[in-house]
Amino acid sequence: MTSNRLLVIDDDPTSSATIGRIARGCGYDAIITTDTDDFRSRVLSWDPTVIVLDLSMPEMDGYQVMDWLARQGCNAHILIVSVHELDRLREAEATGRALCLNMAGVFQKSLNLEKLRDVFREIYDAAGVLSIQDISHALINREFRLVYQPQIDLKSGGIVGLEALARWDHPRRGPIPPSTFIPMMEANEIMSEFTYRVLEMALDELRAWNGAMNGRVAINVSAAVYGAMGIDEMVRAQCIDKVVDIRRITIEITETAAMTEASEVSACLWRLHELGAQLSIDDFGTGYSSLVKLHQLPFSELKIDKSLIRDCVPNPQSNILVRAMIDLAHNLNKLVVAEGVENLETLRCVRECGCDVAQGYFLGMPMPPDEVIPWLKQQATRVDQL
Ligand code: C2E
Ligand code: CA
Ligand code: CA
Repeated sequence: MTSNRLLVIDDDPTSSATIGRIARGCGYDAIITTDTDDFRSRVLSWDPTVIVLDLSMPEMDGYQVMDWLARQGCNAHILIVSVHELDRLREAEATGRALCLNMAGVFQKSLNLEKLRDVFREIYDAAGVLSIQDISHALINREFRLVYQPQIDLKSGGIVGLEALARWDHPRRGPIPPSTFIPMMEANEIMSEFTYRVLEMALDELRAWNGAMNGRVAINVSAAVYGAMGIDEMVRAQCIDKVVDIRRITIEITETAAMTEASEVSACLWRLHELGAQLSIDDFGTGYSSLVKLHQLPFSELKIDKSLIRDCVPNPQSNILVRAMIDLAHNLNKLVVAEGVENLETLRCVRECGCDVAQGYFLGMPMPPDEVIPWLKQQATRVDQL
């Protein structure tokens, strides 16, 4: 495991949520628990690199937790947070040291968030894992690039568009997956800058295909970007600048982001719609929204999440769910895209369920922009086999 893993045990939901949020912003995978049995099993199975513990908890106090950790030979960095006086916290820290635990600091509630962030970052940097500064440098140094995954019309076998997916080739560490850097960006307010760069690259590349790819390009836009910087204005201005027809752009927004109550999100989506961009609801089926509620938003396409698509063949329940989603979406005049189609069986299944478009490793891997046109030429000869 190369990531930094932070485990919080605290029975106070507000402070533990804050700690989790700050840690994720610093690039950690964070798990929060209030239950000591769960805590013990996480320590043993997940091997956290940092543990944050509250000194006073109902079932097992901080001293007992440290004692148990010491007996396990735990070498994670340990931070103590508590409402107690600072002297008492320092005493607990000294106890931890005496137990040969790797004590990393004490924090009195209410937390000094900046200081906490600094400590998380220090530990992070010392572990040689990524920091937000690395991401800022990568943006300046243009280390991000896009790959494109084809979306195939299930009736004609032709391509309807490409989804742009970001890649980061770190000069020393090699490829870093979006699942690592996107959440860090989201928590550190540099998502607007990143989205700007993604749009810039996608529009340049779309232009460079110069009519040989007539479909749309789909861009993923995180919730963090709506409202804040006006993604609508960003898309409009860049399309004018790069002379790209805005109708060829699809903005993918996750179901969860689309369902936020924030009025600026829906206002932004409506402006994009009025400008002519397409909207697609991504990862559909992972949140708790109803299509009826989503219907108040101006989207034209629903992308059913790959977890449901993957299960569509082996699991009759998922199959029923997918069919119901497709029927309802069609009744509401929406196009349905199946993502994560990994084999022929699944392709047949989603087609039979009535999906309009499919995307997945079986149909086409995400590829660099210069491979798109050769791929399209080859695809023309493959259509009949699908
Ligand atoms: P997503 O938007 O749901 O994108 C689809 C993900 O599924 C991509 O992962 C893609 O490579 C992967 N995938 C495609 N076909 C298959 C398949 O057949 N099976 C399986 N198991 N996976 C498949 P990737 O590229 O690692 O991206 C992960 C996530 O990172 C994306 O999920 C998206 O949420 C986010 N992301 C990527 N690029 C950007 C970006 O430019 N901006 C933002 N905001 N998010 C991005
Ligand atoms: Ca997507
Ligand atoms: Ca998705």
